[in-house]
Amino acid sequence: MTTAHWLFGDQLGPHFLTRGEEGPAGDAPLVMIEARSVFRRRRLHRAKAHLVLSAMRHRAAELGDRIHYVRAETYREGLREAAGDSPVTVHHPTSRAALRLVRSLESVRVLPARGFLLPHGAFRAWAEGRNGRRLRQEDFYRWVRRELDLLMDGGAPAGGRFNHDHANREPPPKGARTLGAPAPYRPREDDLDEEVRADLDRWEHEDGIRFVGRDGPRRFPATRREALAALRRFTEHRLEGFGPYEDAMLADDAVMSHSLLSSSLNLGLLDPAECVAAAEDAWRAGRAPVHSVEGFVRQIAGWREYVWQLYWHFGESYRRRNALRHHTPLPGWFLELDADAVTARCLATVLGQVRDSGWTHHIPRLMVLGNFALQRGWDPREVTDWFHRCFVDGYDWVMLPNVIGMSQYADGGRMTTKPYTSGGAYIHRMSDLCHTCAYRPGDRTGDRACPYTTGYWTFVHHHRTLLTRNPRTSRAVHTLDRLADLDEVLRTGEQGEDPP
Ligand code: FAD
Repeated sequence: MTTAHWLFGDQLGPHFLTRGEEGPAGDAPLVMIEARSVFRRRRLHRAKAHLVLSAMRHRAAELGDRIHYVRAETYREGLREAAGDSPVTVHHPTSRAALRLVRSLESVRVLPARGFLLPHGAFRAWAEGRNGRRLRQEDFYRWVRRELDLLMDGGAPAGGRFNHDHANREPPPKGARTLGAPAPYRPREDDLDEEVRADLDRWEHEDGIRFVGRDGPRRFPATRREALAALRRFTEHRLEGFGPYEDAMLADDAVMSHSLLSSSLNLGLLDPAECVAAAEDAWRAGRAPVHSVEGFVRQIAGWREYVWQLYWHFGESYRRRNALRHHTPLPGWFLELDADAVTARCLATVLGQVRDSGWTHHIPRLMVLGNFALQRGWDPREVTDWFHRCFVDGYDWVMLPNVIGMSQYADGGRMTTKPYTSGGAYIHRMSDLCHTCAYRPGDRTGDRACPYTTGYWTFVHHHRTLLTRNPRTSRAVHTLDRLADLDEVLRTGEQGEDPP
């Protein structure tokens, strides 16, 4: 009898079923387990719970009789029901906890990971070849481009350079309320979505499972067909404008030219290789300029791949890092996504986007949400958990490096060379969010002092020893020392748990 193959809920695309090197047999019976404990353990955004369940159930429906779809309390129980003691294969899961579980089960054989561009071994060899030098994202990304011959022209980078950041950091066009990009793909809900909604209601009412956020019409693909349509829509109509404004924010245009593909990639509905190939094709066909295509390829072949590899490279203890010794618990209004309680327009807008959709693009995550948490000294493990629960694309592997490393500097600089924090001036330059705000980005004292500006100076004051030692941040400490009104700034910054 052919060995059965177990699919996790983030292994939903065809590339998890191809035989290739170490894949399941073409006719292997399949198993998928919907474990209720996953939803009990963490208070997830309801739109995320909806998306994940909808995607798993749609995949099961497509696979028909070939798959045994089990609803159980835990994975262990589900697997016992589906396969008993018979041998099962599974592709390397994406979290340490799931890897521990599958390795602890005698009947399960773990096959190599799929859904990423490079195997772990290739990354290890690259990292070892660095001889202790820093594992810089830029170096990693250039190596991946060469290794995979990605966006290269006869051995040289397409467009003459690897890095087009200079063209991709524009503030939003002056006076524009939206970028005017063609609308992104929007899926249409069906009976399975109805069924998921009814189940979620029942779990809430009868089973004590709690969610956060609003579960409006589903915005993200739940099937391969929808995900391919979203990819096509992006590369054919929206990629062209992706680059220049990828770091900009507009109050009335949350999505701008971003691809909205992260949840499809992380559910395994899309393979990153096909996404970067589609972008490269758009450039070769003259449909998108090289700086936009490079910016997008960098996000996937650079950032996404780097974050995945670092998750495994940094080890289990990474999640407990707290180099800045930040221990403040997250306040209730933030945990509840209570955007209406917030006065600061940037934070209210972005928190509202998270509440309503479980998504916002990378700069609001880093420079509005993460920045605020860092400045207030919030516990990095709690911040990580919050991001993980509240974002449709949040998974353990992607959260740890992005939050512990990139956003909260809790790893003491293993991932970034300095803490990512700034005052209101950055948000003002890169968005239209300050125009009608009750606070003024330039004010650091008084009734209209911007909470990000006071937060910034408070952060520099608290961590002056560390920041003085780092050549990339020592100037901030010099400037702090010249502030005649520092005591007043620090007093203004003390706002306790209240929303700003
Ligand atoms: P685009 O801007 O269109 O980018 C294209 C793709 O690049 C994304 O779909 C994503 O797959 C990939 N990508 C870009 N940056 C990263 C990154 N740093 N890490 C991983 N993939 C990246 N991304 C997630 O997928 N899940 C998360 O839980 C997540 N949490 C984040 C938390 C913080 C604090 C920060 C700063 C970033 C986080 N990111 C996360 C990365 C990034 O914000 C999202 O991938 C992106 O905003 C998703 O929207 P998009 O698909 O429109 O992305």
